[in-house]
Amino acid sequence: MIEEASLYIHVPFCHSRCDYCDFYSVPVPKDSPLKDAYIARLLQDAEFLFARHPLRRVPSVYIGGGTPSALGEGRIARLLDGVSRFLPDAPLEYTVEANGESTGIPFLSALKPRGVTRLSLGVQTFDGSARRAVGRTGGDPTEALSRAAAFFPGGLAADLLTGLPGQDEEAVCADIERLLAFSPAHISLYALTLAEGTPLARRHRAGRGVSLLPSPETADRLWLTGKARLERAGFSWYEIANFARRGAASLHNTRYWRMENWLSLGPSSSSTVIDDASGTGVRRTVTADLYAWLNRKPGEAPPFREEALDRITLKKEMFLMGFRTEAGPPPELWEKRFGSPLPAASPRVFSLWRSRGLLRKSRAALTKRGRLVLGRFLPEAFLELEERESGPAGP
Ligand code: SF4
Repeated sequence: MIEEASLYIHVPFCHSRCDYCDFYSVPVPKDSPLKDAYIARLLQDAEFLFARHPLRRVPSVYIGGGTPSALGEGRIARLLDGVSRFLPDAPLEYTVEANGESTGIPFLSALKPRGVTRLSLGVQTFDGSARRAVGRTGGDPTEALSRAAAFFPGGLAADLLTGLPGQDEEAVCADIERLLAFSPAHISLYALTLAEGTPLARRHRAGRGVSLLPSPETADRLWLTGKARLERAGFSWYEIANFARRGAASLHNTRYWRMENWLSLGPSSSSTVIDDASGTGVRRTVTADLYAWLNRKPGEAPPFREEALDRITLKKEMFLMGFRTEAGPPPELWEKRFGSPLPAASPRVFSLWRSRGLLRKSRAALTKRGRLVLGRFLPEAFLELEERESGPAGP
């Protein structure tokens, strides 16, 4: 029985689909009755979820998607009011994601009185031609940013994309300058990826219409340019893709990176519950199918698949998530779960990477240079984890 977990709620609606996106969402009109059916079903599921997990603490709630702001002010108010009945206390951090085209004053006004502390706005770029090239149709985010900054001073987060078609270093810096004018406390800087199954990846494979996409080397340079600009502006690079002003790191996402418990609601959402005593866990992922999720008998669980996280899987996940961050995997949680100290988990690789200046001397965390080559560190560390788990040198 767990006493503490964060809560993620997936809103599976978007105004329209962007060509690069592989998150689950369905493009529906503004007043689609599916949205009302979604809220009703979600609140029923919340009742079952919190009956099964009567939590004492919910440190953070994150409403993501999809596009939560596509629900509009009335429905988001119903969702927030409905969910609040199950929360033991006001969460320390309560985030709602939004997109420019649906972030008007009525929507923003519905949030704060209901405990929302943080608004995360999908900006991606101010450049209209780059937006159009990747099928992002929501329009210029400037006005929405200005409204959001007024409602959430100190609590505004925004996403930017690098590696967009036609983008150069000047354009990356121009996006950052424009965003900084709204004083966001938190910026996620993502490099565009060609996710399998997306229209952009299909076009790329067919050699159509994406000739302006930068080469992998240029894409790396663009992201590094953005990183350097954000650090010069005083943001701390505290996770592979995330930058924050002092004290503004995302509590909710930090709990994912530390592999602390989280529950979830909504199609395609996933929850992870860990038993600290045995160092094992269970992940439950709801099927990414809004219609199957909606069309259930009352009281019936949503369709989901369950995955057991055995000790070695959990160890690898704690490496995978923890080494993304400036702090590294949490040593106290590691020891509690696995009964041995974190430095003993992979001593050969730790010592090698430390000697190259890629792992910090004082703790098991990658240096800034080390984090840039996380993809090389993980396979080496996994191999040693596996050897020690199965060999006589374990645990
Ligand atoms: S608005 Fe966001 S969630 Fe929706 S399709 Fe675009 S990137 Fe994906």
